[in-house]
Amino acid sequence: MDLKLSCTCGAVQGVALNITPDTGNRVVCCCDDCQKFAAHLDREADVLDEFGGTDIYQTSQSQIKIHRGAENIRCLRLTSKGLYRWYTNCCKTPIGNTMNGGLPFIGVIHNFMPIDDGRSNVLGAVRAYVQTKHARGNPDYPNSSEKFPVGITLRIMRKMLVWKLRGMNKPSVFFADDGKAVVKPTVLEKS
Ligand SMILES: [Zn+2]
Ligand SMILES: [Zn+2]
Repeated sequence: MDLKLSCTCGAVQGVALNITPDTGNRVVCCCDDCQKFAAHLDREADVLDEFGGTDIYQTSQSQIKIHRGAENIRCLRLTSKGLYRWYTNCCKTPIGNTMNGGLPFIGVIHNFMPIDDGRSNVLGAVRAYVQTKHARGNPDYPNSSEKFPVGITLRIMRKMLVWKLRGMNKPSVFFADDGKAVVKPTVLEKS
């Protein structure tokens, strides 16, 4: 199904095409970088769960379309080698994380994909709670993993390969055809 995408204030809106539990990959990431990103946006309270986890749906960039407010899109990199972390400047809603323009992958952050019918009904259950060594407190997540479990890594790599072969890194809202980010990323720490 096609899912509505929106920042919290509604200035940036779009759609995620052909989304099913099977075509993507729902994970909760507890890594310190995802936590830093939420903190930088001053959105920890509604991005992170009680253990510092971020609920993410991994899919291909070509499935993400923005219809309104694209001029509000901004990009942050925690370090000069870090992921490209996209957000909206209007209300500091995190959009998602990508590698570079050549790789089709995007992990869409739950705040930008508001789902009225229940996230698990539409995206399926969380496949894994990853990087829990960075979690806050004593998480009682089911199927959690200290780092990144092999099963999920293989699953996303297989998908990435299929997306890449199908050219699903393009068209991208975030990268021009030459692979350049559409807005210059702000780099927090030069490494
Ligand atoms: Zn907004
Ligand atoms: Zn993370």
